[in-house]
Amino acid sequence: MNTSERFTPDGCVCDAEAKAGGLIPFETAVSMALDLALPVRETEWLPIEQATDRVLAGPVSAPAALPMFNNSAMDGYALRTRDLTGDGPWTLPVSGRTAAGDPADAGFARGTALRILTGAAVASEADAVVTQEAVDVRAGRITLRRRPDPGSNIRRRGEDLCRGDDVLPAGIAIGPRQACALAYCGAAEIEVRRKVRVAIFSTGSELRPPGAALGPGQIWNCNLSMLTAALTQSWVEVVDLGAIPDRPDELAETLASAFGQSADLIISTGGVSVGDEDHMRGVVCRAGGEIAALRIAMKPGKPVAMGRIGPAVFVGLPGNPVAAFVAWHMLGAPVLKRLGGIAAPRERLSRVRLGSGLSRFPGRCEFRPARILGRDPGGLDIVGLLSSSFSARVGLLAAADGLAVIPADAERVPEGELLDFIRF
Ligand code: AMP
Ligand code: MG
Repeated sequence: MNTSERFTPDGCVCDAEAKAGGLIPFETAVSMALDLALPVRETEWLPIEQATDRVLAGPVSAPAALPMFNNSAMDGYALRTRDLTGDGPWTLPVSGRTAAGDPADAGFARGTALRILTGAAVASEADAVVTQEAVDVRAGRITLRRRPDPGSNIRRRGEDLCRGDDVLPAGIAIGPRQACALAYCGAAEIEVRRKVRVAIFSTGSELRPPGAALGPGQIWNCNLSMLTAALTQSWVEVVDLGAIPDRPDELAETLASAFGQSADLIISTGGVSVGDEDHMRGVVCRAGGEIAALRIAMKPGKPVAMGRIGPAVFVGLPGNPVAAFVAWHMLGAPVLKRLGGIAAPRERLSRVRLGSGLSRFPGRCEFRPARILGRDPGGLDIVGLLSSSFSARVGLLAAADGLAVIPADAERVPEGELLDFIRF
């Protein structure tokens, strides 16, 4: 079987039975992660202008037929096609003028044409609008040479939506298209899910804030900035608990503080592996938490702790920044989206062609930073994979155009193979 056949259309990126070494297959880990997270139940009503990027709590349907009245699609002349008797050309007197916002039936009389502007209500007796370009206008009369079809240039009542038609589903974020549709339906206030409260902290005694003077062995903390950027969304409320040294008592206090602030999701970075200074698992367990998944068959990001502490979901990301980013992207972000009530929490994938083949040890699904090199004759992007050992190489991540997905059981992936791709 070649690699491209194993991808499923619903976007499963890595369905191999990667049981090697007791690791949890990536797809199983994603399902476990999503099962841990239930959408926040509370909702609030917001004016439309304050609802941008918030998550719609319920579906929205059309409150009435839309448009609500027949109206002109063009600047021109409204007339009754039955008044055009015999063969053309026909000449009609112009009996008045109507513009957008005027009441319907303003000034229309049988046997005449009415000057009409785009968006104006079309009189009930008129059944066509001829464009101003299709007529000659002279001394208050129009002459037309071609018989318009009934209905031409009229936007009919209900032609877009009937009363009760589905307009928007629950669980989508309100962007410009959705705001437009909501306003079109006359919705002044919108029911959205409450914001998801997310407490974040990084662990590591070596960490200093970006820009701070570094002592021997110290580094700048990039994971906290990565998380802050990832969480800066209008449906998320971030509680930044800072950088915590590798001391179990301080880490435990930090968890307690996350509780105190009623976090729905607690995210840490670092300290989840099995080294002497990896305290997160112990601290979570002592706080009464349960870790449901730890060793996941993914690369990078094998040590990712996912579980619950009381009512909160806990995601412990690895410390290596690229691993933290990938684990956030592939596991943390879907959990967050599900908590927020977003109906499609999984990452969107596209297809790309591999620029040059590779050989590897099978067993873990790999999310490899990759660059787009060009396009194949069929229009698919061709990608080049960046270094195979990359979990600490932030420079490579910064230069990448996305993550190429290499399935867990692939040992050899030939040049030209189709791969799933997560585009940045
Ligand atoms: P850990 O998972 O805590 O063992 O960390 C693994 C590696 O990632 C170590 O080299 C850490 O110094 C580094 N690291 C951990 N946290 C951060 C962070 N917030 N920013 C940058 N590097 C980090
Ligand atoms: Mg550490």
